[in-house]
Amino acid sequence: MITIQGKGVSAGVAIGPLYFYRRARNTLRRYEVEDREAEWNRFKDAQAKAVEQLGELAEKARIEAGDEAAMLFETHQMMCEDMDYEEAIEGFIKESGLNAEAAVTDAGLIQAEAFAAMDDDYFKARAADVKDISGRIVGILSGVVQGGIDSPVPVILASDDLAPSETVQLDKSKILGFVTSGGSGSSHTAILARTMGIPAIIGVGEQLKEEYEGRTVIADGGTGSVIVNPDEATTAKLMAKRAELLKRQELLKQLKGQPNVTKDGQSIRIYCNIGNPEDVIPVLENDGGGIGLFRSEFLYLNCDDFPTEEYQFEAYKKVLSDMGGKEVVIRTMDIGADKMIGYFNLPKEENPALGNRALRICLNRPEVFHTQLRALFRASAYGRLSIMFPMVTSVWEVQEAKKACEQVKRELTEEGIPFSDEVDLGIMIETPAAAVISDRLAKEVDFFSIGTNDLTQYTLACDRQNNDLGRFFNAHHPAVLRLIKLVAENAHKNGIWCGICGELGADLELTETFLSMGLDELSVSPRSVLPLRQKVRETEVAACRERLMGELMSDQISL
Ligand code: PEP
Ligand code: MG
Repeated sequence: MITIQGKGVSAGVAIGPLYFYRRARNTLRRYEVEDREAEWNRFKDAQAKAVEQLGELAEKARIEAGDEAAMLFETHQMMCEDMDYEEAIEGFIKESGLNAEAAVTDAGLIQAEAFAAMDDDYFKARAADVKDISGRIVGILSGVVQGGIDSPVPVILASDDLAPSETVQLDKSKILGFVTSGGSGSSHTAILARTMGIPAIIGVGEQLKEEYEGRTVIADGGTGSVIVNPDEATTAKLMAKRAELLKRQELLKQLKGQPNVTKDGQSIRIYCNIGNPEDVIPVLENDGGGIGLFRSEFLYLNCDDFPTEEYQFEAYKKVLSDMGGKEVVIRTMDIGADKMIGYFNLPKEENPALGNRALRICLNRPEVFHTQLRALFRASAYGRLSIMFPMVTSVWEVQEAKKACEQVKRELTEEGIPFSDEVDLGIMIETPAAAVISDRLAKEVDFFSIGTNDLTQYTLACDRQNNDLGRFFNAHHPAVLRLIKLVAENAHKNGIWCGICGELGADLELTETFLSMGLDELSVSPRSVLPLRQKVRETEVAACRERLMGELMSDQISL
């Protein structure tokens, strides 16, 4: 039995085999084959497997995001079996004696170049598709799973860290828990784990060894310990803990349908954060009052090229319809920093977190923003939509974003396309600049949602991705809390609501503080809704407000 220690970032106990996440290797093997017929058959088998995989993906996409999304994979299926493509591969294998991996890569490149040279935008875009299917077939040929989990049973997934684009493509039904050597508590792997309600441990460093693959592991997301080959006594102890946690979850279920009201009658809305349309399921299961943050950039991360208006429309419509009239706050894409996407072709930056990201990209690339806003407003006809913009620092940015919304509404009216007249527009407060000028910003929008992950990072000048900064990244720092208080006050003075959608919203140590500040909404991972409701219902705000606010603003506060 070996115990390794990391930092628990999503509570719960999981037991299962350890499995290392595999990235597709870039090194392509190129050699001459002796038996060309056998090589050709090897290609045909891989092609058939790719078509099968794409069929499964199409079905998954149809359920999760609608017909338009499924079509993408169906098109890929057809392209896999395209005659010109297949003939080119056959020529490379049978005439030149090239191995199948190299033949597929070369044929894919030739066809991609031909598409890229076409005038028609639709065909130009197919270049990326050909590269994608070639990559898939080469992956199958070389036995490298393209960032997937090739295990018949669910696993505890181990990796150095996962990029958001990698996490988004994982088959979630195969994951019992996450263990990463790097990462940080506010990284998107941690956020995803909390949304899925599965245990996650980060920062275990070099103790996480590939030789442990396949061994039974118990991951305790509460204490941060990972036990490899647990002995009987340890297994029994942790299984008892797991049963206890599950029992507590069952007990919390009694709070479903109960209001989020303190003992002395103060209400607060508890909403949920999601990244994909299918995340609505845990939101409803956990009785979330609405969606306070839909990270729309995950739709972009899921695609190989800019998602079309239709694709996005279907996804937003699905979330709004599934939420059945409850409020859904969709954040316009927050691309950049840790969420880089190849097809955006963004130049490399020295300081990406301070660079071209989120609303800045939208204002610099109006055509990309326009497509998203059209999809959003069209979807607004199907539920109660609010839109919010991330990474604001100045009033003019908000005014420009609002103008872009007005233009989209004019267009849709002219085209006779229905949309709701009651879409609220809000902003995320996640930079110190926005917090400090929140009095001015409040005059421009219908609501504020405080992104405490970034607000902490920018206020404390501490990279949220860097686990080594540990104790310096202190989201309880008075500088952060005072900014939150200021923002809530400015919102209320101007008659708008103010919530928190960063991870701090679920921190039960701060619930009394947030209630004392009068925050109107906390948006948290679905699993956090009921524990937070319990905490709210146990609190008497009048009994703690003066003390907590006094301490926070006192010049005696320890810094
Ligand atoms: C935040 O910064 O707090 C936030 C909610 O946005 P994200 O974590 O996606 O950057
Ligand atoms: Mg943020």
